[in-house]
Amino acid sequence: MEKITMTTPIVEMDGDEMTRIIWQMIKDILICPYVGLKTEYYDLGLVHRNETDDQVTVDSAIATKKYGVAVKCATITPNAQRMTEYNLKEMWKSPNGTIRAILDGTVFRAPIIVKGVTPLIPTWKKPITIARHAYGDVYKNSEMKVTAGSKAELIVTDKDGNETRQLIHQFTDSDGIIQGQHNIDSSIASFARSCFNFALDTKQDIWFATKDTISKKYDHTFKDIFAEIYENEYKEKFEAAGIEYFYTLIDDAVARVVRSEGGYIWACKNYDGDVMSDMVATAFGSLGMMTSVLVSPDGVYEYEAAHGTVTRHYYKHLKGEETSTNSVATLFAWTGALRKRGELDGNKALSDFADKLEKATIKTIEDGVMTGDLYLLSKLENKKKVNTEEFLLEINNRLKEMM
Ligand code: NAP
Ligand code: MG
Repeated sequence: MEKITMTTPIVEMDGDEMTRIIWQMIKDILICPYVGLKTEYYDLGLVHRNETDDQVTVDSAIATKKYGVAVKCATITPNAQRMTEYNLKEMWKSPNGTIRAILDGTVFRAPIIVKGVTPLIPTWKKPITIARHAYGDVYKNSEMKVTAGSKAELIVTDKDGNETRQLIHQFTDSDGIIQGQHNIDSSIASFARSCFNFALDTKQDIWFATKDTISKKYDHTFKDIFAEIYENEYKEKFEAAGIEYFYTLIDDAVARVVRSEGGYIWACKNYDGDVMSDMVATAFGSLGMMTSVLVSPDGVYEYEAAHGTVTRHYYKHLKGEETSTNSVATLFAWTGALRKRGELDGNKALSDFADKLEKATIKTIEDGVMTGDLYLLSKLENKKKVNTEEFLLEINNRLKEMM
């Protein structure tokens, strides 16, 4: 069989620990035998980030802007313990944060659904994709403790030095707390465009919700920016695609989500997205089945798994013990990138290959062959637990038949 050719490279961002092991296995077993894989390789493993003073992370993000499609392995975000473990020069920032800042993107997280693993909310039949605005609000706040007798005010000084003041609270009898938050219109607009583009791309409705009835300026601005961009830039495209943009109050959205059967994108403000994505991920089952894609407002895509480097499994692997780590989310990061590359380049063979690889993966699990995390959740009667490598070999047995 002749290998599928690629014209433009994908940006490949390698990573750390167990996911780095899986990364190589996926390429060796499932991609390179079928595709003349063309990537521009960046090693974002912590050792190399440290060697390059984290320049490699910046370079990989710039390359992603150039080529339009990237696939990223999970990476360690250093903490005090990693400083010693890897003898780091500095506590390097989260690569995801650095890449997101350069691409100005929004993260979309979606579960992969398989027969036999029922969501904890049984009405959920299709994926619920959560889009989280990853800028500002409580994550860039300024807060203080305030003693009784104090008066707290908001003060804004404009560029000419004029002050506008507004009372927050007069603390009379009791001590208390205050918090200042901000967001910027340009970031909200980027968020809106990423969301609308992704909805068109995946042909799904998009819901957006805030607490605009209580927060008449702050949250209402989010609602207004979304509405304006939708009306001016997306309404006709949405109508042509047969999809819908729907705004509602966050309370109503939560109630509707629980009653829904899934199959839409739920756009959330920063805090809502943080909390709701954990809720949705847990309800759908395993972290090993949760995909993540960063989409920039100008249509650049970076695919990855939502989980981390699975450190606990990696330490077992280093001791020579058998692991049963779920590679599905990492594998779907690869298929997502290959399919998008195929779409952008008009390379149908490449997009079709990505579809087949996903089908082979789902068939493997639905045939009862799965890693330990799914084995605990699956209700299939004939289920069998396999190790990390066996799982990929089993997928390949099915993929071969489809090629
Ligand atoms: P994690 O790597 O997601 O793993 C947490 C636990 O979830 C694992 O110990 C495992 O549970 C289960 N799990 C996650 N992915 C799995 C998979 N593919 N297959 C089977 N089980 C899976 O989170 P963490 O241990 O908190 O973080 C480890 C490192 O990852 C940290 O250094 C962190 O900085 C980094 N991280 C990176 C990213 C990213 O690059 N996007 C995201 C999050 C965390 P059991 O041990 O019970 O089997
Ligand atoms: Mg969270």
